[in-house]
Amino acid sequence: MERSQLRATVDFAKPGKQHGHLCVPYSYNLGGWANLLLPVTVINNGEGPTVLAMAGNHGDEYPGQVAILKLMREIEPRDVSGRLILLPCLNLPACKVSTRLSPLDGRNMNRSFPGKADGSPTEMIAHYLTTVLFPLADIVIDIHTGGRSVDFYPCAHMHLVPDREQRKQMRDGTLAWGSDFAFLYADIAGTGLLPVEAERQGKIVITTEMGGSESVPLAVHKLTQSGLRNVLIHFGLLAGKVQTREQLGLPPTRWVQSLDYQDYRFAPESGVYENLAALGQEVAAGQPVGQIHFLERPDREPVPIIAPTAGILLAARAPALVAQGDCVACIAHDVPAKTWE
Ligand SMILES: [Zn+2]
Repeated sequence: MERSQLRATVDFAKPGKQHGHLCVPYSYNLGGWANLLLPVTVINNGEGPTVLAMAGNHGDEYPGQVAILKLMREIEPRDVSGRLILLPCLNLPACKVSTRLSPLDGRNMNRSFPGKADGSPTEMIAHYLTTVLFPLADIVIDIHTGGRSVDFYPCAHMHLVPDREQRKQMRDGTLAWGSDFAFLYADIAGTGLLPVEAERQGKIVITTEMGGSESVPLAVHKLTQSGLRNVLIHFGLLAGKVQTREQLGLPPTRWVQSLDYQDYRFAPESGVYENLAALGQEVAAGQPVGQIHFLERPDREPVPIIAPTAGILLAARAPALVAQGDCVACIAHDVPAKTWE
């Protein structure tokens, strides 16, 4: 691929701790030679894996941004065996205005991989990750939430990659997060995802959906921060022992999956969405999990959203207003044991 036009003010090979920026050239009407400055911190000490941990791929997802900002200040080289590269707000312009898409180019970072050397700012950042940062990394962590549009039961999640060794390492890292559910998901909404490119390069990829909607409860911040630290300990980058669910008096993580398109439910009409089931609740086949009301047609019965099969409501529409075609519910099912053979 072509050489990236981004410039890093840190030296990824240098031992010690450096705070700096990735400089992304772009133009606007009052800045012909402007640069977007994405914060980056490198903490490098001795032998060990390289972990690339990121948040803010979608701007309106903040628990991971907070968790990484804290690590940037707290972690010192003596704490690390290997190298930790931290990017708290991958799509900084979107993070600053709480949007999923970049206000600079209207692009979704998580549909922009492998990226373009001479593309829009979002495409250039994706290209830099693909060509510079992923090749440096052994482990790639990309912390998401459902953003403003979807509320998730907070969970770590992963793709079922075909390589069995990579799959097992991703399974074990995902479990280290310590969430109630671990989730196998399908790409139902397009291509060009960050984890897909990192997986293609053979990396151990750990991703999450740490809740969603605009409010972040204390428990979600805590799970995001403890989960990230646990994963870094699990892979030997930080010293110490992984805090297990058993130690916390919690049952084992339950693996669930939504690999069928039917598991994702979409609004057939626009209106006001009413949740009829709670996140994490068991639902029966044929059970309504929500319904759509019509403000201009009080005489019309609400249109139900039906669970096609029995399972768990893992995610639901966050804003009450829905437009036709919005994803309003995700039904997950227990993962067969043979998945890990
Ligand atoms: Zn996201």
